[in-house]
Amino acid sequence: MSTEPRLDGSVAVSTANPAVEAAAVPVPDLVAGPVGSTELGAELSGGHGAGLGAQVSAGVTARTRQARSENTVRAYDRDWAAFTRWCARTGSMGRAGGFDRGALPASPQTVAEYLAEAADTRRADGSWAVTASTLSRWVAAINFVHRRAGHPLPGGHELVQDFLAGLRRTRAQPPRRSKALSLTDLTAVLDGIETKVWPAAVIGRRDAALLLVAWASAARRSEVAALDRSDVTAHPADGLHLQIRVSKTDPGAAGQVVAIPFGTRPGTCAACRITACLNVVDAWDTAGRVGVMTELRRRPTTGHVCHLEHPTPSDRFVPPGAGPLFRPVTKAATIGNQQINGRVVHAVVRRRLEAVGLPSAGFGAHSLRAGFVTDAFRAGAHAIMRQTRHRSPTTLEAYARHYTPLETNAVTTIGL
Ligand SMILES: [Zn+2]
Repeated sequence: MSTEPRLDGSVAVSTANPAVEAAAVPVPDLVAGPVGSTELGAELSGGHGAGLGAQVSAGVTARTRQARSENTVRAYDRDWAAFTRWCARTGSMGRAGGFDRGALPASPQTVAEYLAEAADTRRADGSWAVTASTLSRWVAAINFVHRRAGHPLPGGHELVQDFLAGLRRTRAQPPRRSKALSLTDLTAVLDGIETKVWPAAVIGRRDAALLLVAWASAARRSEVAALDRSDVTAHPADGLHLQIRVSKTDPGAAGQVVAIPFGTRPGTCAACRITACLNVVDAWDTAGRVGVMTELRRRPTTGHVCHLEHPTPSDRFVPPGAGPLFRPVTKAATIGNQQINGRVVHAVVRRRLEAVGLPSAGFGAHSLRAGFVTDAFRAGAHAIMRQTRHRSPTTLEAYARHYTPLETNAVTTIGL
């Protein structure tokens, strides 16, 4: 007669003896100590520590089964069956060598060997055949059966635990990072944005200003979204000063100032892009759609608009008024009054990349910050932390290693 313990604690008996079948007793998970039926307990435990537990009622059996989802029970059932097959196969090979491959109870060494064999198996394409989480589930299934049969848990042994921990560490995937948006790609994106023809120019001017400000300030998307017009001021030497507040809900926080220099050409000049954006917003606020159309026709857009009216460098760029710096714009060129949120920054990055035929997969709002850091490193900028406001050089170094592994802010050295 052979028996195979199942996960509900009962034992499938491949014998026609109805008395033995009837004696197969489900064992509640919570019962500690050796339990089992009179006859089968000894077989289940291989003769060691076979306790004689009380019979349990059908109600207890049903509730015990409900403790785990059907899927879990089925998975455990398969995992346990696979383990017993492996023990039978390798045990018969190994008996001559003198090692024990009993399945119930299984020694920690047996379980570790079982895991090691599976962990080293690769598929035809070179990938691992079994993931670390699957191996953890196998151990859970093996523990499950042992617990029900009243045996010590082999999976709880240091040997098995260390094996799993080591596997998880060596198999760990690097954290997913957004791709960096290079200055080259940013420039291509900016040059591809419609800024003159209604209605596309309305959202186009907003997007262009947003992308350039976010990139050059290395701001997080929530910080970009939270910018007010009053956070932007002109500085005679530096270009723009951007006040980046820690949090809208923390008015006591002083925030930090980052500088964005005037661009060498209007397309990459943040002051020009902001001016072009806010001119349209102001026209909308004062005269609606007609005002916007008039504004779009009004200015020639060759040369810097940031100092057209203020040729003296010390006071070029008109500091903007009140309200959010970036406001929602619909496809129909309707401008909302509220702030944008961080998701808009993300969407703009992807939409504008696609618009110029660049792949957007892997790009998002963080690509702007990552892109700035990358190009700053390439340009040999030394004051990156001043711009990114990273608190720790370690974090910045992690960026450097990921994005510019072969190279060592001053945003000016990048050549906007
Ligand atoms: Zn300009």
